[in-house]
Amino acid sequence: MNETARNEAEYLTRLRREFHAHPELALEETWTASRIEKELDALDIPHQRVGATGVLGKITGERAGEGSIALRADIDGLPVHETLNVPYRSTQPGVMHACGHDAHITALLGAARNLTQVRNAFAGEVKLIFQPAEETGYGARDFIEAGHLDGVERAFAMHAASYLPVGSVAVVEGLNFAAVDHFVLTVGGKGAHVSRPQEGSDALFIASQIVVAAQGLITRRTDPVEPVILGIGKLHAGTAYNALAQTAHIEGTTRTVTDESRIRIRNEFLDLARAIASSYGADIDVTWREVTPAVINPATVSAEVSAVVERIATLTRDRPYSLGGDNFAEFQQVVPGVYAYFGTGNPSVPNSQNSHHNGNFDMDEAALPLAASVYAEYALWWLGEGRNRA
Ligand SMILES: [Zn+2]
Ligand SMILES: [Zn+2]
Repeated sequence: MNETARNEAEYLTRLRREFHAHPELALEETWTASRIEKELDALDIPHQRVGATGVLGKITGERAGEGSIALRADIDGLPVHETLNVPYRSTQPGVMHACGHDAHITALLGAARNLTQVRNAFAGEVKLIFQPAEETGYGARDFIEAGHLDGVERAFAMHAASYLPVGSVAVVEGLNFAAVDHFVLTVGGKGAHVSRPQEGSDALFIASQIVVAAQGLITRRTDPVEPVILGIGKLHAGTAYNALAQTAHIEGTTRTVTDESRIRIRNEFLDLARAIASSYGADIDVTWREVTPAVINPATVSAEVSAVVERIATLTRDRPYSLGGDNFAEFQQVVPGVYAYFGTGNPSVPNSQNSHHNGNFDMDEAALPLAASVYAEYALWWLGEGRNRA
């Protein structure tokens, strides 16, 4: 490693550890946003807030011409308690960068630093999107609604991947993540003494019927070769052991990969719930939130990113789609964009192959300079020759 490379690696490791030690939950990323702004100031990059905790930076090329690309990093931590005793462990009990978003922030700042040094090599602008609240499905829409994606020609995001070896980058054309919906159904019944059920409407009993019957929509009403999840993770009902529950709350999520099944499963589930409730004299109140569409990488942009990755890293397509979600999908709906993965796992670096969202998650920080270059090189390619070819 030469001295410049060593300096960069040290700079990025220092930054990542600083962010790692200061995780903040979705929509509470105030320290994080200020720290990002401080770094952008040091790099002489103009910036503005988007929403309360989003940050947008802009690097303008010195060449004559046009062009615009957005690079996105999500910045939120998780309600997970860090169990590792590393020197840079979380200083916030119960909150942790357990998904690797600390590395995303760092890689994008590293890319920004690289890009400011080669302003004379490109025209147009690079927008740096530091997006809050990815884990809860917020943040992205604020950038879109404020018009920051207007006129942007390409969008690009990367996620750390402990299941991929450090040095590799996965780019997968087509489906990457499912569409995600979140629902709360409230069963409105009628309380009564347990000895006089005929005078009430037992919300707990009704909710139980709904939870069990819902899985029939998957096994009996869904094409078995199409992935659909109707997951119910919370069920709360009742206040006394000897009374009929007056209300019950059923909370869960759907995961689908086509618009048709997304709409169908929602309608069939609500019809089913209402039918069961009404046959026992109760009603259903529904809160339904469409969290994010599916992440689908378009073929042309996937090919562009793959070609850039092949120059500097080991390209792989070996990353099966998952029924997780990421609201980078919202950017993809307004700008052609790709979502890729950079490997952070290394058998010789302790804990770097542990799963995301776990208290023992960590990474091989050797991945950081590579992730920074993939961000920067794709932007440079697009604003250099890429957009003229497309
Ligand atoms: Zn996550
Ligand atoms: Zn994540």
